[in-house]
Amino acid sequence: MRHLYFDHAASTPVDPRVLRTMRPYFSREFGNPGSLHSFGQKAIATVDASREAIGALIGAKHFREIIFTSGATEANNLALRGAVEFYKKDHPDVAHPRIIISSIEHESVMETAQVLEGYRVEVIKLPVNKEGVIDIVALKDALNENTVVVSIMHVNNEVGTIQPLREIKFMIDAFRKNAPGAGASSHADGATYPLLHTDAAQSFPYLYCDVAMLGVDMMTLSAHKMNGPKGVGALYVRRDEKIFSESGGFPLAAQVSGGGQEFGLRSGTENVPSIVGFAKAAQLAAATRGKNATRVAALRDALWKRIKAAVPDAEINGPAGDAKAPHILNIYFPGHVTQDLLTRFDRAGLAASSGSACRSRAVESSYVIEALGYDKMRASASIRFSLGKNTTRGEIAAAAKIVGRVLK
Ligand code: PMP
Repeated sequence: MRHLYFDHAASTPVDPRVLRTMRPYFSREFGNPGSLHSFGQKAIATVDASREAIGALIGAKHFREIIFTSGATEANNLALRGAVEFYKKDHPDVAHPRIIISSIEHESVMETAQVLEGYRVEVIKLPVNKEGVIDIVALKDALNENTVVVSIMHVNNEVGTIQPLREIKFMIDAFRKNAPGAGASSHADGATYPLLHTDAAQSFPYLYCDVAMLGVDMMTLSAHKMNGPKGVGALYVRRDEKIFSESGGFPLAAQVSGGGQEFGLRSGTENVPSIVGFAKAAQLAAATRGKNATRVAALRDALWKRIKAAVPDAEINGPAGDAKAPHILNIYFPGHVTQDLLTRFDRAGLAASSGSACRSRAVESSYVIEALGYDKMRASASIRFSLGKNTTRGEIAAAAKIVGRVLK
């Protein structure tokens, strides 16, 4: 039986061109980038060329603004924990630094925020509307002079909402301008904060992710969501050498200490093959992004049309219009249970998901769907179908057929 894969938001297959690019770095080009000899020099040149390539794709001003990590989870941890730790050291007088997130962030942000709460950090979770878009007025009300980071994901991994990052950035800019001490160039200056971070793990393959255009200070990326290898990602961090002069320009404290790799922010020997693969995957994804987005969105709409025809009481969770990520379709099937449906789909040859792969081993309802304003029942009766750049029309028809058959 051919198995249909509709879980590309969980992971994507490595593109053969990416694999080919990676291969020499497992054997022939095996040097440690930290070594002084020619093997090491070659390796560090390769890592930095990958850094340059990824930096150029997101409009980073300097290659040093890309910090390689083990993936989006670690990048999100570095962004939040790193910024809070750094801020606390400089602001010992602030009893409760604040971070602001949305109520539909990925677990790697949600759980990290919860851990930070245990360290006297105040966490504000912004509500979202039925389409998953954050409440901008609530953001305005939540900003205060102790706010360190606002972390709002670019595209939601369960329902595909695209957040209005530019509007968020304007709101933060207005706040920064009026903050006490604005204009001074010390990092104790209220105008430097809050930093704006976005998790772009889901958006990069389909949406333009230019850091200046989005107005973000930090951005998370993950290679395995863009047909690259698992276990590698990056945090873009906007450097400001004037303001953060003592820390290499970064407003972050390292979360992994040791040999000082990644400009002191993430020690550990660089994963050269994966970093090379990540850069290649990012280049390929960016080069075909517009074409893929149009094609995949049309396939997603076709899938929804067919499923709705087969199961008339099915409903979409999340954005209904065009302002959504092209690859994600989240559907409520009234009277069913997610886990049960997933098993039956899988037995029939269709791999889908309840939302986040990190949570789907546990039988839990989706906090994202509940945050949209739906009840627990709907949150436990919904399925995410996510498409990839290689999904075909034939697969759409076959998947809809299986859904219809299972739900008949
Ligand atoms: N953020 C988002 C939005 C994601 O979809 C995922 C993957 N489920 C992650 C973070 C975690 O990524 P990684 O597997 O690279 O740690």
